[in-house]
Amino acid sequence: MTSRKAGRHFLQIPGPSAVPDRILRAISMQTIDHRGPDFAAVGHTALDGMKTIFKTDAGRAIIYPASGTGAWEAALINTLSEGDRVLMYETGHFSMLWMKMAKRLGLEPEFIEGDWRGGADPEAIAARLREDKAHEIKAVCVVHNETSTGSVSPIADVRAAIDSTGHPALLMVDSISGLASVDFRFDEWGVDVCVSGSQKGLMLPPGISFNCVNDKAMEVAKTGGMRRSYWDWQEMADLNQTGYFPYTPATNMLYGLNEAIAMIHEEGLENVFARHARHGRATRAAVRAWDLDVLCAQQGQESGVLTAVLLPEGHSADAFRATVLENFDISLGNGLSKVADRVFRIGHLGDFNDAMLMGTLSGIEMGLAKSGIPHAKGGIDAAMKVLEESTPEQIAAE
Ligand code: PLP
Repeated sequence: MTSRKAGRHFLQIPGPSAVPDRILRAISMQTIDHRGPDFAAVGHTALDGMKTIFKTDAGRAIIYPASGTGAWEAALINTLSEGDRVLMYETGHFSMLWMKMAKRLGLEPEFIEGDWRGGADPEAIAARLREDKAHEIKAVCVVHNETSTGSVSPIADVRAAIDSTGHPALLMVDSISGLASVDFRFDEWGVDVCVSGSQKGLMLPPGISFNCVNDKAMEVAKTGGMRRSYWDWQEMADLNQTGYFPYTPATNMLYGLNEAIAMIHEEGLENVFARHARHGRATRAAVRAWDLDVLCAQQGQESGVLTAVLLPEGHSADAFRATVLENFDISLGNGLSKVADRVFRIGHLGDFNDAMLMGTLSGIEMGLAKSGIPHAKGGIDAAMKVLEESTPEQIAAE
């Protein structure tokens, strides 16, 4: 063993994703006075830019100097009061954490159980809402891209299902790992509140997070919600109109955010989605050629952000990840809670290209052999075939 590892580390966890040099350079600029005359342009660019990423005209973007968990809490406490019922869907580990947070805040979450192998089922949500004649359920909370499983929930269908029941519950969506990687349309899909974070598709380091809020949710917050100060939307929104923030914003992260938004639009948001979808497809082709199982079993709901891979019984996914890290300097995501040590997760999100994907998959195939995990050869060829046969443009047109 030498003490130096040559070459770039491959950070292939499903977020934080590797930060492009352009963004690192933007973040490294000198910090400015966040109440001075030059700051308003930075603030306006970030707030307006985030609206284009959320795809909203009418909604407003809120930016917190916090990780995604803070923005989760903000979404709940601005709209819901202690004792309120919320309907949540078990897509995986992150839906469970959001549900536990709701409980701790004194809400009454109802959890529709899921098997962690697909996205939320709109019909199950509609069925529960239909029973709630007294409209005691105040919000439906769904994770868009479940980072622990690699499944995407059909948010437009969830909205349609809620509407079909005539139920007035708010629709709150966690797109912390979906935004800027997987198709998301705040206005068109009728989302009331969306929660997101910096460290996934936005290609930034961890540290800032977002709420996108429509007028309906803003109205609810005016008279409702819990006691709050730091997370309060209204105070934030009032000051944001001038480009400023009620407390010290993460100035350098906002430089980085503005660079990230510019990069995403240079590539084209739809092309970014197609690139992720194509890499997801190639990864799944490799996994299937290896004769291993993709955790997401719902066709059409597989994520372009990550692929969770089930190992055969009796083989430790964590030991496998350690082997891949030690030998090939590739960090893979671990299995969380219910699937701990059973799956490993391949992140293929953010600033990522075909050659980086092939490098990652090669490291995994070599790692499978080194770890003595039963598998077939040919994953690399299968992934290459997908890449050769499909261009991002074709996938975007599908
Ligand atoms: N929700 C999802 C879907 C996530 O992937 C994560 C983090 O990975 C979170 C919530 C929590 O966000 P954070 O770790 O930034 O607080």
